[in-house]
Amino acid sequence: MEALGIDIGGTKIRAGVISAEGRLVCTAQVPTRASEGPGAVLEQVGTVGQQVLTQCLRSVCGVGVASAGRIDSNTGAVLFSTDAFKDWQGTPIKAELARTFRLPVAILNDVNAAAVGEQWLGAAQGIQRAVVVALGTGVGGALIEGGRVASGAHFAAGEIGHMAYRAGDRLCGCGQRGCFEPYVASAALAADYSRSVGRNCAGEEVLAAYRTGEPAARVAVEEWLRALATLLYSIQNGFDPERVILAGGIVDNAADYWPLLMELLDAQSVKVDVHQAQLGSAAPLYGAARLALNLCDPERRRDTISE
Ligand SMILES: [Zn+2]
Repeated sequence: MEALGIDIGGTKIRAGVISAEGRLVCTAQVPTRASEGPGAVLEQVGTVGQQVLTQCLRSVCGVGVASAGRIDSNTGAVLFSTDAFKDWQGTPIKAELARTFRLPVAILNDVNAAAVGEQWLGAAQGIQRAVVVALGTGVGGALIEGGRVASGAHFAAGEIGHMAYRAGDRLCGCGQRGCFEPYVASAALAADYSRSVGRNCAGEEVLAAYRTGEPAARVAVEEWLRALATLLYSIQNGFDPERVILAGGIVDNAADYWPLLMELLDAQSVKVDVHQAQLGSAAPLYGAARLALNLCDPERRRDTISE
């Protein structure tokens, strides 16, 4: 049995045929065209999906979609989205793609889909209670409870980036002030360092400077890790997980700062087991395919999302 997984990201849409054993049979990607509105994005999804099916010479049993934004996984529509996707809010993704592919479609928010992927094939395998923290432009999160992704009462569970860190302080992308996100996102680390050195740097550049022991990079990384440690402290107290999984490009270079993070966690008596994600940027794609495979197999249909 095989399914089509699709990950709709801010800049690119990736599609892949994935087997029930978790093997990526073939994959393709196209630009998202997020600024052109939902019609353009869905057209791109149809194009890349058909392209990968043709390329693989495969028929699949269903389509799983990981999408940016807050997604109602029952109706399959977008409940909320940032301005990065023009008019994405309200888009009935599931209904549109069921028409396009003439197959059953399942859909989840991308970080929740990444958590499904990590639980299937990555760092959360065999873990019943986990929290996934995705560090990027923003801070995403997903809660795994009883081996399933918890959706919450309004499909907003796991928005840990918007828990309060310094109420009233830095402006967050959500419009509130003092959330963890503007301190903990990799974009926040890059912005802090860029301010202190007077030029624009990406997160990876800050870590490269940190490796050489540059003082400004050291200050920025320490501040960032202090905020991250406090977030992990709050997660431990709020959710009591067996494991927290850190994901995002900045975590791929974690060896540089991991010892300091462990030290800071120790100082805050954080005992939770913290791991790096294993599937990298492919996690949402695998999670999306798992959702579709669950749809194809009625015995597993209720296996992924807790209601
Ligand atoms: Zn916020």
